Amino acid sequence: MPQTPPVVLTIAGFDPSSGAGITADIKTIAAHGCYGIAAITASTVQTTAGVRRVVPAESDLLTQTLQELAGDFQVSAVHIGMLGTGKIALCVAEFLETAKPPNIVLDTVLSATSGTSLLDEAGIRIVRERLLPLAILVTPNVAEAAVLSGLDISEVEEMKQAAMRLHEMGAKGVVVTGGHLEKAIDLLSLKDSYVQTFRSDKLDSPNTHGTGCAFSTAIACQLALDRSLSAAVLLAKAYVTTAISSGYAIGKGIGPVNHMYRMKNHPRAAGVAKWASGKD
Ligand code: PLP
Repeated sequence: MPQTPPVVLTIAGFDPSSGAGITADIKTIAAHGCYGIAAITASTVQTTAGVRRVVPAESDLLTQTLQELAGDFQVSAVHIGMLGTGKIALCVAEFLETAKPPNIVLDTVLSATSGTSLLDEAGIRIVRERLLPLAILVTPNVAEAAVLSGLDISEVEEMKQAAMRLHEMGAKGVVVTGGHLEKAIDLLSLKDSYVQTFRSDKLDSPNTHGTGCAFSTAIACQLALDRSLSAAVLLAKAYVTTAISSGYAIGKGIGPVNHMYRMKNHPRAAGVAKWASGKD
């Protein structure tokens, strides 16, 4: 009998183009050899060209989904992505406060790369007051860390100060991702222990849709696989870097990262073409 993989729960929005959101998260979870389960916070009408519409999930549907999943599976880690509204964020906080699953990784998604807001003001309050204290790790990018901490960030020292402010709000571990700064610098700060920076060259790829979701979900998977926080962050950074550099230009806008780059590309399309043409 094959060994049972760790179960990773993603609580996030649905992006039908599968670059970001729950379908992308499930790809990331599968790529790490874990078993993914999902609860939808919102549906978006979205393509590689951007987000056209956001419709929040019914809160009682989300709560029931989470409760049923928690009753059925032993969850090893939780990834929280887009929440949309304060009402939905509150459902998630109430569920997590009661169910107390381990290894909660909070990706503080505030807006899409295309600019559309993905969390309202009430939701930002719930993130600050209820979700930050529950998370083992939060993964804001520089812009999100600035909003949550109330500080301007344009250099590494300010990333550190923002991380300290998030610790004061209850976050145990903070990774501020600085892919948006001039150099790609990520800062990992663990409350009461240490601060570490991971530097890498900025990748010159247009196919970056879903980078934040892939990074935070990969960290949740590594924690589910029993890695330490700093090892999980380092391994997730390596995963995302390769997923970006092997991303493909699919669709007319910003292409997705390649979540499944570890799978071999079998020349199946050629085989299917032969089959379709009736030739051996
Ligand atoms: N859409 C959904 C459903 C998401 O969960 C997210 C990110 O978490 C996004 C869009 C934003 O992705 P990006 O910043 O790559 O546009």
